[in-house]
Amino acid sequence: MVSKGTPEKKVDGAGPDQLTAAFGRQLSLASRSVHADDHTNTHTAVAPPMHVSTTFRYADNPDDLVPWANGDPAAWDDLYIYSREKAPNSTRYEAILSSILGGPALSYASGLAAFHAMIVFLNPKRVAIGDGYHGCHGNLKLLNKLNGLEQLELENEDDLAKLQPGDVIHVETPLNPSGEARDLDYYRRRADELGCYLTVDATFAPPPLQDPFRHGADVVMHSGTKYFGGHSDMLSGVLAIRPDRAAEWLRQLREERLVLGSVAGNMEGWLGVRSLRTLELRVRRQSDNAGRLVSWLAEQKRAGGNVVADLVHRIQHSSQQPEAADPNSWLSRQMPNGHGPVFSLWLKSEQHAKRLPSKLLLFHHATSLGGVESLVEWRAMSDPSVDRRLVRVSIGVEGWEDLRDDLLQGLQALSEELKD
Ligand SMILES: *Cc1c(COP(=O)(O)O)cnc(C)c1O
Repeated sequence: MVSKGTPEKKVDGAGPDQLTAAFGRQLSLASRSVHADDHTNTHTAVAPPMHVSTTFRYADNPDDLVPWANGDPAAWDDLYIYSREKAPNSTRYEAILSSILGGPALSYASGLAAFHAMIVFLNPKRVAIGDGYHGCHGNLKLLNKLNGLEQLELENEDDLAKLQPGDVIHVETPLNPSGEARDLDYYRRRADELGCYLTVDATFAPPPLQDPFRHGADVVMHSGTKYFGGHSDMLSGVLAIRPDRAAEWLRQLREERLVLGSVAGNMEGWLGVRSLRTLELRVRRQSDNAGRLVSWLAEQKRAGGNVVADLVHRIQHSSQQPEAADPNSWLSRQMPNGHGPVFSLWLKSEQHAKRLPSKLLLFHHATSLGGVESLVEWRAMSDPSVDRRLVRVSIGVEGWEDLRDDLLQGLQALSEELKD
């Protein structure tokens, strides 16, 4: 007799540990992005299935029924009940993320949902946070309304000294919107001195550009909306837990996500898997493109007597920080495989910054970043806190020479228009 309630049987696929054992080493990031979820296969189809169910049949045999509260935590991976707890597409997405981020990963409905879940879990009285993504400050403001949580300024030593054990040092690196990096080893030392947790928003430098666990992060957060999604078509947030904390923290974060109700949607879990397959290809190309464009812009500015030098007042990117020139600096050690694909240009005036985007043919004028298509944004459109001359640039996977020529023709057209 066919049982109505028996989960589909797993048909094949080695888990990440089995693959590591078989090869005698960990596979490359590119291979893990394609194979770290093989063990979740439940069908002979090569392309992952799309599960849209919100609810899952219990065992047909009454003797096999185990109420949720008595479930064996070790069986978490196999038992599906209701998609607000977990669902097959996001389990698959998380299997790949856990492998490529180097610590067990959980997915959320958005980057801010992940940030919120992280702060709720760690429950600090104070969070030291620098400039960076304005939404995270807004989230902390909400918590201030609820329980008085205090925001301190990360780059102010007097503020850091106010931190108490159990508080959080939250470092975004590279920073939004400048693309400049911050020294994680330094903040790990400060966190140890003060008895604080170190959390890192690593959205701007996904693998293979940076591994915050190598610099002591307790939790690594990403807006998966950006490079993990990579095609400007899904919202997603991710938390990865430092491996030696995982046993304790993973179960509690899962339980809290169930009641926060901020899991990733089924469609997003499926899209996330599809996107992660090409993460390494995309990010290397985007990083390389951005590096070439920034060097070209910086060279033009140094040379003078051209439209870049005339209209671009300042270029911000981690590749332009003084430490980038020294291969032994903290910056070169923290970002050994290239700089992030986002940088900022400060134009000569607010008018220039506002009008440049409409002159470009390849760059879309839109907020967000991380997709295959290059974007520019007159940043004042979505972030009231930044200088109004600032244009944020997110580099996609197009040919870099085409992007260079587009910027050049756009600046020339702007220069004509604003001649007097
Ligand atoms: C986009 C972004 C976020 C917020 O992520 P959402 O997915 O939009 O909620 C947080 N931090 C950084 C650095 C971001 O770029």
